[in-house]
Amino acid sequence: MSSNEKIKVTILPTGTMHADLTWLLVDPGRMATRDAKNKSREWVEVPTHVVYIEHPDGKKLLWDAGVPRDWEKRWGPAGLAEVFPVDAVTEDMWLDSRLRQLSLEPGDIDYLLLSHLHMDHAANAQLWRGTGTTIIVDEEEKKGAFSFDAYNKGAHIRSDYDGLDLTTINEDTEILPGIKLLRTPGHTWGTLTLQVDLADSGTMLFTSDSLYRSESYGPPAIAAGIVYDTVSWFNSVEKIRSIADRTSATVVFGHDPGQLANLRSGVGNCYT
Ligand SMILES: [Zn+2]
Repeated sequence: MSSNEKIKVTILPTGTMHADLTWLLVDPGRMATRDAKNKSREWVEVPTHVVYIEHPDGKKLLWDAGVPRDWEKRWGPAGLAEVFPVDAVTEDMWLDSRLRQLSLEPGDIDYLLLSHLHMDHAANAQLWRGTGTTIIVDEEEKKGAFSFDAYNKGAHIRSDYDGLDLTTINEDTEILPGIKLLRTPGHTWGTLTLQVDLADSGTMLFTSDSLYRSESYGPPAIAAGIVYDTVSWFNSVEKIRSIADRTSATVVFGHDPGQLANLRSGVGNCYT
């Protein structure tokens, strides 16, 4: 196969938040004990990324939408700006900068695939309003995201996605040959995982917040401080694990600083 017959995947870091590790990992091994009652909390890096995919049939896809430039203004009313500050991001990392580096307008993307509608994944989705891009989310995620009448419910900020034409899926769905969305609920009502089968690099599974970090995956899996449905979450992790085992996949976690630093990333630095 020549290179233009292969799927190309580009991982683009889109800015790093910081947060108390407990939000990401409810790890008994790190908790206070009788002998260490005042164990200090860990304030850790929480990097974000999007994935740009070029398909040999000419279609362009984007997985997730990163964090917004005006995060303080938008996250403040929800009380999230203090909890998850986006305080480690360079000008070249914002999503609009990334699109410029790719010489793309939002409307050049055929499919925007949103893993879920939390504010650090869907916040830039309004860039696609009226563009004709097909925006895909899980049916249960959409239902949940519109089930409240308030500025936000937890990390769902309604204005991030209100008014967008959201196409939904209600089963594992192949979007294009070699590109599949897997239902992995638990973190939220309808969190998705992206499976891409690459010619040279094999299968890659982008878990988004179905798995925050390598420690979340284990085994054993370690749940997070934010889980909508813990039983579903554990089931989804084992679904990911069985697919990963069967396909010898590279599992790319949603917010793992160590892993992200070791992956090929940035424009021009792709997996095929
Ligand atoms: Zn999330």
